[in-house]
Amino acid sequence: MLDVAIIGYGPAGATLANLLGQYGLSVLVLEREAEIYPLPRAIHFDGEVMRVFETAGLRREVEAISRPGLKGMYFNNAAGETLLIRAGTSERGPHGCANNHYFHQPELEAVLRAGLQRYPQVQVRTRHEVTAIEDGQDFATLQVKDLDSGKVQAMQARYVVGCDGARSMVRKAIGTAMIDLGLHQPWLVFDVRLKADVPDLPDHTVQHCDPARPMTYCNVTGNRRRWEIMLMPGDDPEQLVKPETLWRLVSKWVTPEQADIERAVIYTFHSVIAETWRKGRLLLAGDAAHQTPPFLGQGMCAAIRDASNLAWKLDAVLRGRAQDALLDSYASERAPHVHAFIDLAVKLGDIIQTTDPQAARERDAKFKTGQPEIFQFPAPRLGPGVWQGDAAVVAQVFPQPMRSDGRLLDTVLGLNFAVIGDEAVLNAVSEDTRERWQDQGVVQLPARDPEVQAWLQQQGVRAVLLRPDRYIAGVAQTGHELDRISALLPTTAALAH
Ligand SMILES: Cc1cc2nc3c(=O)[nH]c(=O)nc-3n(C[C@H](O)[C@H](O)[C@H](O)COP(=O)(O)OP(=O)(O)OC[C@H]3O[C@@H](n4cnc5c(N)ncnc54)[C@H](O)[C@@H]3O)c2cc1C
Repeated sequence: MLDVAIIGYGPAGATLANLLGQYGLSVLVLEREAEIYPLPRAIHFDGEVMRVFETAGLRREVEAISRPGLKGMYFNNAAGETLLIRAGTSERGPHGCANNHYFHQPELEAVLRAGLQRYPQVQVRTRHEVTAIEDGQDFATLQVKDLDSGKVQAMQARYVVGCDGARSMVRKAIGTAMIDLGLHQPWLVFDVRLKADVPDLPDHTVQHCDPARPMTYCNVTGNRRRWEIMLMPGDDPEQLVKPETLWRLVSKWVTPEQADIERAVIYTFHSVIAETWRKGRLLLAGDAAHQTPPFLGQGMCAAIRDASNLAWKLDAVLRGRAQDALLDSYASERAPHVHAFIDLAVKLGDIIQTTDPQAARERDAKFKTGQPEIFQFPAPRLGPGVWQGDAAVVAQVFPQPMRSDGRLLDTVLGLNFAVIGDEAVLNAVSEDTRERWQDQGVVQLPARDPEVQAWLQQQGVRAVLLRPDRYIAGVAQTGHELDRISALLPTTAALAH
């Protein structure tokens, strides 16, 4: 019997398989396509996501196919004046790396797939389509069709994760409705490869908030550049993707003499979130659970965060260290988190997609009161789940400081919970807590490194309990408070509060 069957081998499925592989679980990934989806979709991921790749042991490989973007994202009006900036970060942002990275999605997916070769107990079957799912008391049964031979085989797994994209059949099996967050708009995505350097093209992403034709420009990696172009009333989609139209649309920036077309496709950007992410042994992750307009470059990022949140919980439950109810905290934590990102993307969409000239003038006047407004990359809290306390940092990701030995913090954390803090507080916990830490393999880290000490001091706390996904489960001033938050650790007792 499989521990976990993953349906879909996009970024959500491939990341989850890598994380579960590290835990030693037996996993089967089923994918109906023969090859990686070849057309570029996502081009940006954030620092937290790089950290998940790092936890999966793939940071170096991902760095080799991506580039850090340090300058942020500019929202310019039709006159080219900057209204708004999403701030950039240095090479060492809060997660121990830059906070924004640019990449070509098929190359990232290739890295994730190669990563699975490390785990013999993780198997992948491409050209295998899941045609039906039946949930049961002790396992779920999948009907899997081999698309080459036509044979259908039944397979059983203790949990099934639907990473099967926007048209998810697992979502249908769960029978959930989608919450509509309001934005549905067709955009043309036009990717080119420069033949030689075009020095006038910016290095950073620009949202051209021109009411006559909103557009986004992105420097991807190497010689790849992208324009995303909003469809306007009266546009003929067939005409729009013709080379002559494409070159005319971007003629201000680049010409056919300077670049080759890689592809041009019209996508409709959606903003939706599934009402229910779990039913029995069936769970959803990635685009199957939520879709966002790409104005923050977050669709895939959310998929990777789903995988990171779910992996340690599946491991704890499958090893009998936690009750099955722990898996309910996956949706209760992740849904509000992704909701916050989609809400912001929709708000930015309202700014970018303004097509009424008068409304655009009013928008420009509102922003242009002095210097451009700068906003930070969002860091929402998780929804209710495996965390406790009112401090603002709780239910947020712990930063990744550098240790005195020159290594980043995560390198010593592994895949377990960790307590970090004043030695005196760590030593003051009860015998019960000590046993619980021992039992759960909790990493105990006296705060000796200046960057860790500085963080604790800044937050006014003396110890912190981290989950395997690096989110803060709780903070403490005393051994007694540490006892209280340590009760959150997986045990066979109920977990979510
Ligand atoms: C134009 C565009 C720009 C984007 N930009 C960004 C960005 O900059 N940053 C970002 O983070 N995100 C971005 N995204 C979103 C990102 O591409 C998606 O969120 C991401 O690919 C979702 O990954 P996934 O694994 O959930 O789904 P998918 O990549 O769609 O994978 C699902 C897989 O499931 C398989 N499958 C489906 N049903 C079955 C079945 N029954 N049996 C077997 N296999 C099945 C499919 O063949 C597919 O391979 C962008 C998207 C678009 C379209």
